[in-house]
Amino acid sequence: MSSLIAEHMKDVHARMEAACARSGRDPKTVTLIAVSKTKPIEDLKEAYEAGARDFGENKVQEISEKAPEMPSDARFHMIGHLQRNKVKQVLKHAVMIHSVDSVRLAEQIQTEAEKENLHVKVLLEVNVAKEESKFGFMPEEVMDAVNVISKFPNVQICGLMTIAPFVENSEENRPVFKKLYQLSVDIDRKNIDNVTMGVLSMGMTGDYEVAIEEGATLIRVGTGIFGAR
Ligand SMILES: *Cc1c(COP(=O)(O)O)cnc(C)c1O
Repeated sequence: MSSLIAEHMKDVHARMEAACARSGRDPKTVTLIAVSKTKPIEDLKEAYEAGARDFGENKVQEISEKAPEMPSDARFHMIGHLQRNKVKQVLKHAVMIHSVDSVRLAEQIQTEAEKENLHVKVLLEVNVAKEESKFGFMPEEVMDAVNVISKFPNVQICGLMTIAPFVENSEENRPVFKKLYQLSVDIDRKNIDNVTMGVLSMGMTGDYEVAIEEGATLIRVGTGIFGAR
């Protein structure tokens, strides 16, 4: 008997493959992150059984509680706004921090990573649509931030992340995804040491298919797998 979560995952994977086919992309280049924030550990285990290995959480406390309960090949991604005083703790559990939204935060990551002799993979969060309510660098600030953060030896910039606006029709977010992609291309062209732009974290339950068509390599799907929060 397959669970509802397993059914949902199957559906999401089918849609991912269709979006890849439409845009001529290899499905292996897109990874599904199951956003499990607020959900109980049993749900994460069900998703794991159905093949999920990447999980997204937005609170350090929650990652710290859940990560030790999961099989050792489960990976946790920090996707929420991160306070500087929580950096030390998140480094123990997260494989990537998607939400680096200030140079000060990156500096703190550098400090803690150096102490632990870690190289921390991060994405810079960009507030592409310039929404008041959202964190992230303004698009025109990203290049300067990359230049500064690239000098931090224990912080590895792997790409960009955005949270697109809530919209009725996912097509409305296509320009947002196009813009993040273009920014990553512009940064990549500068060939900065210690910076790669291979990762684009964009697309959620409502708009991940459009995001894939526009170049997403990581999509973050919560409701579409685990149901309403
Ligand atoms: C909650 C959340 C998601 C998942 O949202 P859904 O609409 O439930 O898929 C993705 N990204 C971030 C940063 C989130 O906080």
